[in-house]
Amino acid sequence: MLTLSPNLRSLVNAARDIAVTVTSRTAEEDDRHARWPDATMRALADARVTALLAPTAVGGHGGGMVGLVGISEVLAQESASAALCFAMHCVGTAVLAAKPTDAQRDRYLLPIARGEHLTTLALSEPGSGAFFFYPETTLEPTPGGFRLTGTKSFVTNAAHADSYVLSTAAVAAGAEVDGAFSCVVVDRDRPGVEWLDAWHGFGMRANDSRTMRITGAEIPCDALLGAQGDQLWYVFEVIAPYFLMAMAGTYLGVAQAALDEARVHTGTRRYGHSGELLGQAPVVAHRLGELWGRVEATRQLIYSAAAKGDAMDPDALPSILACKAMAGDTAVHVANEAMTLCGGSAYRENSRLARILRDARASHVMAPTTDMLKTWVGRSLLKLPLL
Ligand SMILES: Cc1cc2nc3c(=O)[nH]c(=O)nc-3n(C[C@H](O)[C@H](O)[C@H](O)COP(=O)(O)OP(=O)(O)OC[C@H]3O[C@@H](n4cnc5c(N)ncnc54)[C@H](O)[C@@H]3O)c2cc1C
Repeated sequence: MLTLSPNLRSLVNAARDIAVTVTSRTAEEDDRHARWPDATMRALADARVTALLAPTAVGGHGGGMVGLVGISEVLAQESASAALCFAMHCVGTAVLAAKPTDAQRDRYLLPIARGEHLTTLALSEPGSGAFFFYPETTLEPTPGGFRLTGTKSFVTNAAHADSYVLSTAAVAAGAEVDGAFSCVVVDRDRPGVEWLDAWHGFGMRANDSRTMRITGAEIPCDALLGAQGDQLWYVFEVIAPYFLMAMAGTYLGVAQAALDEARVHTGTRRYGHSGELLGQAPVVAHRLGELWGRVEATRQLIYSAAAKGDAMDPDALPSILACKAMAGDTAVHVANEAMTLCGGSAYRENSRLARILRDARASHVMAPTTDMLKTWVGRSLLKLPLL
């Protein structure tokens, strides 16, 4: 990991302590029962790790991408779901902090800085699927603000969050904004918002990523984030960079956890007939070495991209785009290979490695998807617009 400021280092250390002392004890049960990681999220809030991306002006840590990667990585080594819950709160925070009004600062950023408010992102919809930046949820002007109608899918943190950052499409608001995409913030328990079925994922089971149905929910004028039509700016300037780095850190942690499982098993499994360790077979040591190299190369790319992002390096874009794709490829590959190395004992139902492999698979379908990102890397190298 790169050199961190003393404050970021203490936050990463606090997150590691929480991962080891709290998350490791609850992760298996949370996964089995598809239960939101309450104890971990409470501990992160109590230690004000959840204030990572709140600006220093409101008492937050003003942390950047390196800190986000570091914390996501250590959480994901114990629970990818807990890392995802933390990540979606952080990305939502970054959106709220980008262009806040005074009222939004007081209502959202100050409590986030105190560890007293959890937010999240609700962008995806059944209609646009992986193309999450083309919302169909309507934003209709009313005398007192706006009326929202639509469906948001896979809203991580679901009813556990205190607020939701939503993307919307304007209707009947005048020629200059008609059809423009905007971001708004919606408070929990807003009339007109309901949660559909409980989340039961193949993997990533402990994040409560549920569907939100919004039927004519009234929100005030001050719920608008930035100006009308700002959604694409938020998506590409704020959401994508922070989300990609948070997910890169998460899947790096998943890959590291799989590697650790393989290392422990091959380093301790001894055969009765020969007295030899599994890892003494040359092909096993070779495979383990290959996996270590993949994880380490991925780690170097991710932390260097995060440092470039924090430094606002004009050449950071391809590295930031490549991170989540590479982390996903690495996590799936390493978890898959570790399952072979760890043998039948790992293949049992609900082994730790089984959970890691199921969690790793989410990386490719979470938008921007792996294929989409690799295409965007190519387009950025060719100086073509991403979309
Ligand atoms: C565990 C989990 C948590 C999530 N949390 C959130 C959240 O908190 N907030 C949020 O807004 N969203 C969230 N999402 C949603 C996610 O980001 C995607 O929007 C969602 O998975 C898209 O699913 P879909 O079935 O609509 O995919 P589809 O749009 O049907 O796509 C299916 C597959 O087709 C492929 N594909 C699509 N288009 C192309 C193309 N042009 N070229 C090549 N391949 C293509 C992709 O590989 C994709 O996986 C979450 C998803 C998961 C699984």
